[in-house]
Amino acid sequence: MFELIARHGKARRGRLTLAHGIVETPSFMPVGTAATVKALTPSELHDARAQIVLANTYHLWLRPGLETIEAAGGLHAFMAWGGPILTDSGGFQVFSLESRRKLDDDGVTFASHLDGNQHRFTPENVVAFQQKIGSDIAMQLDVCVKLPAPREEIENAVRLSSAWARRSAAVPVQRGTKLFGIVQGGLDPALREQSASDLAELDLPGYAIGGLSVGETREEMYATARRTAAMLPLEKPRYLMGVGTVRDLVTAIDCGIDLFDSVYPTRCGRNGRAMTHAGELNIFNASFTRDASPLDDACDCSTCTTFTRAYLSHLFRAKEMLGPRLLSYHNLYFVNTLMREARASIEAGTWAATRARERP
Ligand SMILES: [Zn+2]
Repeated sequence: MFELIARHGKARRGRLTLAHGIVETPSFMPVGTAATVKALTPSELHDARAQIVLANTYHLWLRPGLETIEAAGGLHAFMAWGGPILTDSGGFQVFSLESRRKLDDDGVTFASHLDGNQHRFTPENVVAFQQKIGSDIAMQLDVCVKLPAPREEIENAVRLSSAWARRSAAVPVQRGTKLFGIVQGGLDPALREQSASDLAELDLPGYAIGGLSVGETREEMYATARRTAAMLPLEKPRYLMGVGTVRDLVTAIDCGIDLFDSVYPTRCGRNGRAMTHAGELNIFNASFTRDASPLDDACDCSTCTTFTRAYLSHLFRAKEMLGPRLLSYHNLYFVNTLMREARASIEAGTWAATRARERP
């Protein structure tokens, strides 16, 4: 399922073979929370070099619900995306609800943010849901703790996440869905080690590093990601949840991580923030109103080869919906192109130079 093609330092160039296609790694997954990467069609995702899309179990469970997706023939048919899909377990969303959820050893009961109705997630029913909708990669239900937190709380999250990983792994595999476990443990190396070794015992198809980007500093996140990646089995894919800036992605690749997801590129795009080779820029900047140059002159995406900064600036100022669409497309293309360059340079043995250029 996962082939390690090349390594340069800790950075890895791999190939993930999934039920709906191949993912060349390192790879960035755009977030399609509600079975749509906001503002982009499946053919635009493909043109923007997306290989795999992430969708959210929590949101799809509540709306449109399992019956609707099953009646459509699964999530791929429903959203008309034929490529691989990873679904998260809903753990992160449910734990963000705080006062609206109740945790016990068997699972978590929560009130929907849409209508207040009660729902219950267990390790088994979230894996079954992800299998039924046809996800290529299903994530285990885990317990995510916002940082900083008392050690006792993080210990409990590790204990429950490990127990839930064992229960998730016991659910019979269906439709080729691959189960990934999630390492927790906050910033504590011993707890991360415990969590990683509990999961490695299960010999799962892949492993994610969870519980980061939840309140810690960037330097703490990098240190923990680097340390945790080194605890994971070499021959299995590694996924760092929730990172999407250039600096975070380049650092994470350098730590030996293979998969990433974040709303960052598309959210920035919708809000007029462009990720470019010259750094991030705000399309509302007054200097762009008569600027006839492309958004990013080093980018060959259709936004940059067709439109000027002046026109994009006008679209955003006039609140025309094409503006957010064009910037979302560019940002996703930009990030996916960075991934492509990373893959090529790891293979060529020039990753150190690429890393230095992208993150001086
Ligand atoms: Zn572009």
